[in-house]
Amino acid sequence: MNQGLFRLGLGLLFAFFGLISYLTSTVENPITGEKQRVKLTPREEVALGLQGRQRIAQQFGGLYPDNQLQAYIDQVGQQVVQNSVASTSGYPFEFHLLADPKTVNAFALPGGQIFITVALLGRLNSEAQLAGVLAHEVGHVIGRHGAEHLAKQQLGGSLVTAVGVATTDEQGGGRQAAVLAQAVNQVVSLRYGREDELESDRLGVRFMSEAGYDPTALIEVMKILDAARTGGSPPEFLSSHPNPGNRVERLQDLIAQQYPNGVPANLQDRPEEFARIVKPRLQGR
Ligand SMILES: [Zn+2]
Repeated sequence: MNQGLFRLGLGLLFAFFGLISYLTSTVENPITGEKQRVKLTPREEVALGLQGRQRIAQQFGGLYPDNQLQAYIDQVGQQVVQNSVASTSGYPFEFHLLADPKTVNAFALPGGQIFITVALLGRLNSEAQLAGVLAHEVGHVIGRHGAEHLAKQQLGGSLVTAVGVATTDEQGGGRQAAVLAQAVNQVVSLRYGREDELESDRLGVRFMSEAGYDPTALIEVMKILDAARTGGSPPEFLSSHPNPGNRVERLQDLIAQQYPNGVPANLQDRPEEFARIVKPRLQGR
């Protein structure tokens, strides 16, 4: 056998074992019931999210310099998590307001780091709308979409080692640090697929309504974002969260399924609370 063929054979063999290990690393998601291919443990996802937190903040103008507004974002986010099945996930959720005044967007990193830009916050009109945005992002975390994405990218075993090292030793090895940096880049620039968006909408509706918010507020958010198109190009939220056809209709269907007799009156929008806390703090921005 000549050397080229030998190398090819060896390459195929490794590719084969890579595929086998990808196909066998399947776990059932306790909240969605979905069987998923992920390599990271939840603890490793948390470590990765904490590593990426700084990167996201730098990319979007840092944290918005108003502690009370930060506290309000976190309070609404925690309200959604603590009063819904999301609380059983064990992820340590943190919600941050980013100072970027132009990019209309929200993000989630694996493990529970969630962000909304002040540009998006400024377009919202009620606490339920804010809860809807955050609940949708919580859906990406619970759905483990970042970890699935990384598993598909075949960052594989070396990533697990790198994150494992990062959780026990801040410095890590040089090679591990490089792999980890690559993984952070991946999750920071992550664009979700259509299925991920639908699942996050579904989970978002569920979490926010369990937490006492009117889920139709999420439909309002989609309409607000759609109206925010400038010169035909959609706001970042819609482009990094691709618009699965008829998203508003799908949300309407989801809500009708959950509440065949209409949304219960005790589910709230809280526009006054939102106006009182948020609006004055964004003026003169
Ligand atoms: Zn999304």
